Amino acid sequence: MGLLRDESLVASWENFFEDRYRSEIETIALSYPEKRSLLINYWDIDKTDSKLTDVLINQPYKAIFNAEEALRNIDVAAENELRLHFRVYDLPETQRILIRKIRANHLGKYTAVEGLVKKVTEVRPKLQIAAFQCQKCFAIIRVEQEEDILKEPTHCYEDQGGCGRVSSFKLLPSLSTFVDSQKIEIQENPEGLRGGAQPERITVYLEDDLVGEIAPGDRVVVNGILHSMQRRRGSYRLTSFDKVMDARSIERQELAFEEVEVTEEDEREILNVSKDPKIYEKMKQSIAPTIYGMDVEKEALVLQLFGGLSKKMPDGTYIRGDIHVLLVGDPGTAKSQILSYMSKLAPRSIYASGKASSAAGLTAAAVRDEFAEGQWTLEAGALVLADMGIACIDEIDKMDEADKSALHQAMEQQEISVAKAGINATLKSRCALLAAANPKLGRFDEFIPIHEQINMPPALLSRFDLIFSILDKPNRKIDTELATHILRTHKAGEVYENITKSRKSKHTKEEEEALMANIMPTFTPEFLRKYVAYAKRNVFPVMTDDAMELLKNYYVDFRGSSEDSVPFTPRQLEAFVRLAEASARVRLSDEVTVDDAKRAISIIDQYLRRVGMDRETGRFDIDIIATGISHSQHERMRLIMDVIRRLSSQSKDGNADVGDIIREAEMQGVESSKAEEALDRLKRNGQIYEPMHGKYRVTEY
Ligand code: ADP
Ligand code: MG
Repeated sequence: MGLLRDESLVASWENFFEDRYRSEIETIALSYPEKRSLLINYWDIDKTDSKLTDVLINQPYKAIFNAEEALRNIDVAAENELRLHFRVYDLPETQRILIRKIRANHLGKYTAVEGLVKKVTEVRPKLQIAAFQCQKCFAIIRVEQEEDILKEPTHCYEDQGGCGRVSSFKLLPSLSTFVDSQKIEIQENPEGLRGGAQPERITVYLEDDLVGEIAPGDRVVVNGILHSMQRRRGSYRLTSFDKVMDARSIERQELAFEEVEVTEEDEREILNVSKDPKIYEKMKQSIAPTIYGMDVEKEALVLQLFGGLSKKMPDGTYIRGDIHVLLVGDPGTAKSQILSYMSKLAPRSIYASGKASSAAGLTAAAVRDEFAEGQWTLEAGALVLADMGIACIDEIDKMDEADKSALHQAMEQQEISVAKAGINATLKSRCALLAAANPKLGRFDEFIPIHEQINMPPALLSRFDLIFSILDKPNRKIDTELATHILRTHKAGEVYENITKSRKSKHTKEEEEALMANIMPTFTPEFLRKYVAYAKRNVFPVMTDDAMELLKNYYVDFRGSSEDSVPFTPRQLEAFVRLAEASARVRLSDEVTVDDAKRAISIIDQYLRRVGMDRETGRFDIDIIATGISHSQHERMRLIMDVIRRLSSQSKDGNADVGDIIREAEMQGVESSKAEEALDRLKRNGQIYEPMHGKYRVTEY
């Protein structure tokens, strides 16, 4: 360290601190040592003395060492001697490096990297100054530790009162000093990635008061010193090195859509476009235009993009504004295509598959891996990484059991708790979920309840605001249109490739434009992103009395449409509200009007018509989605239970005979096939059992 000391540099820093930071240092001194860092904006230094920032960028260890020496020379009243960390943030553009662009010439420089926190390890103490005892003369020898590997004294140092001999040493933890340390992994922001590229990552080391503040899923800018670290395999040192960073300060990026810049000119155009009476049509047309049809789905996706308002109530409850959408359907119906399109369109979005992904799965997990060197690491999955965006999860039916249970909390409270080993954390997952699922049996069967067709528990299904089933049924008219659309899309692509790549093309720009016109979005993705960002930042619509009245009446009417059916739950009512709010946001309206409420009703209506219909009564029945059993099925099961109870009380052996049960049920108006179906379900649920073949009893709890 002696080599780093530079008297003139110390003097320059001292001048700078005296001039501009004296009162700040005095404030910190009052709460020292809880507060022990002086945070300084780069430009503050640069304005005063650009020579200092020059040293800081190019010889950061030297700059920091001398600045911290200078800080000790600032004379302020304090109980203890101050030893402050000197932390600089807000670096110039030239020092902000994309993780994938880090090269050898950046090593050793003060730099900033930006990204998403993927993993964090437990906080653990690390030796800072190790105390050793000489086994010959028993003197205590202290050695400052700078690297990962323990540095022992080479001999018993005389300048520390030792005997000067070569000796063996024993480490004395109780006399050593430790510093808190933590290792985190940062992954590139998905926005910066070109389609499909694997995000690159970098390991960052945090020390002392920087630890324990960062959670997986956070968006951060880390300012620090890049250096290389030799890789090891077991106890062997390899010749290749990893890039790592020693963090000096961390900036958090809290605001959503922050990264989407909206200029004044953009704003004028956005306001202009918002007055277009055809705005909804145009928005819808701008969602995946190469995909034919899916009108309702696309309208729902527009609303999902804008989202409703999340609300924090005075009693501490939280109501989500994000709209969760599930697409279930036959293979090859462009579900994956839609998801991948949306993940590129919406800022802060993540595309992941329920099947594979990392150890963290879709939510989050505490894992023991190489990264943590045998300790525990908290790793974020897709729903945490998509915080403030849209999590697009394909084949969600293939997720594992751990994710299924965590998903309930993630979708409703928008948090994920992990408690395992030394890790106890609650991560935020304030994202909308756009999921796709394939039917278990390969194809969708309209006549089987939805929860039986996809491998997902009903309680989870009921957390989606909208579930669309997409069927691939042959239909001459639709097939013709779809085929025409797909073929024209391909031809447009062919003509474009032909014109740009082949040396002699007989195709013309006009021909290309005519073909492309069909599949050009009205609004470009860039404009749409700006529009949505503007709406989310500035528009917070409030329900009008008329809209409230409409939704209330619709809800009450539906619930009351038949005395013994309960077609809606309060969850659906909340879905109406979110969709109506989103609809108002599309127009940048401060009011949720009757038209917005009607739009919400029409979308939910279509969804229930497709998946929530009780086939016997022809009525909507949300019970089917929530429990997998329609109300009429429920009623029948109750009736059969009563029959079994009565018959067994009348019989000698206490069993009810299956023939008698079915006869009795028929007399009460239940067809025998339905009665058998009900028996089957009751048996599966464990509500009845079969003590011997053909005999039933009710399970008594
Ligand atoms: P899924 O995930 O539903 O199994 P994919 O998204 O993989 O289906 O789609 C299969 C292919 O069929 C894709 O290339 C997609 O573009 C095409 N396709 C399916 N339906 C449509 C449609 N309605 N319009 C345009 N292309 C379609
Ligand atoms: Mg697919």
